[in-house]
Amino acid sequence: MSCEKCKDLCVRFAIRQPHELRRAIQIVKQNLDDGTITEVSNSDSISQVTFAALAKGEQWDDIVGYRFLCSSCGELFSLHAETYHGSGGYWEPENRESVRENL
Ligand SMILES: [Zn+2]
Repeated sequence: MSCEKCKDLCVRFAIRQPHELRRAIQIVKQNLDDGTITEVSNSDSISQVTFAALAKGEQWDDIVGYRFLCSSCGELFSLHAETYHGSGGYWEPENRESVRENL
């Protein structure tokens, strides 16, 4: 159940290259800054680096994994990637039925 505010984020964005991960991080940061989404804090997160640090330009871990929540409708989003072997990952809504487009 996505809403007007987060519908632009309801896409499956494939991350295959470092610059695509960097771009995804920037888009997520903009949406955090304007209050569209909030980070779901997870004490047993697989990432050592906080998202805030990443957004400031810090280098990511071998495994990137963050979750976010639309502040209007509660849609859950996931940013995840495996960077060490370069197999990549995705930005995507956790609910597959919310994916409007594959990018
Ligand atoms: Zn929403």
